[in-house]
Amino acid sequence: KKFPGDFSNNPMQRNTPKVLFSTIKPAGFDKPQLIAFNERLSEEIGLGSFEEKDLDFLVGNNLPNNVQTYATAYAGHQFGNWAGQLGDGRAIIAGEITNTSGKRTEIQWKGAGATPYSRHADGRAVLRSSVREYLMSEAMYHLGVPTTRALSLAFTGEDVVRDIMYSGNPQLEKGAAVIRTAESFIRFGHFELMSAQQEYKTLKDLLDFIIENYYPEITSSDIQKYKDFFENICIRTADLMVEWFRVGFVHGVMNTDNMSILGLTIDYGPYSMMDEYDLNFTPNTTDLPGRRYAFGKQGQISQWNLWQLANALHPLIKDEKFLENTLNRYGTYFWEAHDKMLCRKFGFDELRKEDEEFFTNWQGLMQELELDHTLFFCQLEKFTVGTDLEEHFSNISYTFLNEEKLGKLKNFIENYESRLNSNTISREESLQMMAKSNPKFILRNYLLYECIEEINNGQKEMLEKLTKALENPYEEIFPEFSIKRPSGYDDTAGCSTLS
Ligand code: AMP
Ligand code: MG
Ligand code: MG
Repeated sequence: KKFPGDFSNNPMQRNTPKVLFSTIKPAGFDKPQLIAFNERLSEEIGLGSFEEKDLDFLVGNNLPNNVQTYATAYAGHQFGNWAGQLGDGRAIIAGEITNTSGKRTEIQWKGAGATPYSRHADGRAVLRSSVREYLMSEAMYHLGVPTTRALSLAFTGEDVVRDIMYSGNPQLEKGAAVIRTAESFIRFGHFELMSAQQEYKTLKDLLDFIIENYYPEITSSDIQKYKDFFENICIRTADLMVEWFRVGFVHGVMNTDNMSILGLTIDYGPYSMMDEYDLNFTPNTTDLPGRRYAFGKQGQISQWNLWQLANALHPLIKDEKFLENTLNRYGTYFWEAHDKMLCRKFGFDELRKEDEEFFTNWQGLMQELELDHTLFFCQLEKFTVGTDLEEHFSNISYTFLNEEKLGKLKNFIENYESRLNSNTISREESLQMMAKSNPKFILRNYLLYECIEEINNGQKEMLEKLTKALENPYEEIFPEFSIKRPSGYDDTAGCSTLS
């Protein structure tokens, strides 16, 4: 009901011009089983605490009549190519809830059944991908990164067929649904669809709706309002990318249909936290050898995606020079924000001209010495004059630190110390800044992998432990999680796009 646009009489048809959504009911599942429920989030959004009778709702069963469920249509550029109409293929929206302070939250199931936009897929999700979405979106939230959130995780009681190795030998996996929440799940792709179909009235209505509801900072009108919006989404997106760089998050599928119009991290598929620092790292095995969505490319790709959004909004903004200039300024804005973020991680008082070279050298060092991104900064915080370099850093490298490498590290640390000595803030202030910028716990891929194995075997110890750890990422609650990825673990295990 929130969306402007006509209504389709035939919701099972995939190509639905003039339509932004179709009503659709969840499939219904006989034997749902609770895995996890996020009590804190539930209270926060106004849903209250979980009771046994709510289990059905977690997988979309037996909905009350006043719950009008629907799925939305969007389009997108996938891996750089126009993919035409897509849509919520296995997301079904339950509606919106308002808490006592008036804050509104959209609620949707992921994996509760097929929709008119499922194409040839089944609209289901497997346990593996649902655990990954549930835990990682909450981990990002607690790290302070803008993101959609996760309310619940439940087995549907149904088995789902997947062939994650593309072996021609599909396996049965346990099905599970997640309920996720956000202020809005609208993506760049919704605008691309309306624009491609030349539905300019609906395009305008949708943008007005987004600005009115989610961009209170915009107070202008007419075309200026749309220009202000575009500048805002550029800034929100750049800020989000900087946050991904700060914590070492690689999204893996930055298609424009996975770009939030609010600047949130959305769609947790073949993502991974980065262990050893590597600008070329991608957890997405279908993104080889191009590595379009590798860690180090995320700034550039987000700008490319904003170009597509600019194209979609062009019929409303009409000012090519403005769009071009705004997009060109994006690079400058991004790099400055990025370098300021690095200053905080290193404990520098301010960004100085000469820091740029320091950061470039740092990247080279990290890459060559295969140092763990997260643990490197933890070690820097503990580092004092006289600390033995080899002892201090060899455990966080994924390669052997020979004399030559140790020499480079020594050189770097000397430069670091002299930069710190020129700070105009105290060492204490500097350390406080570092403590807030450098997580002590990240949800590494191998931990997720172990957790999924356990849940598959009916155990929940790891799930409970990881939940505690990810809720307090700037503390070291479990020392056993503050180590580099153990050898024997593949850094992309379980990152399949077939979710
Ligand atoms: P993604 O790569 O996860 O962003 O998905 C791309 C498109 O495929 C989206 O429109 C999804 O809704 C759809 N999709 C992915 N998995 C499934 C599935 N199991 N069933 C139906 N649609 C799906
Ligand atoms: Mg998606
Ligand atoms: Mg996905």
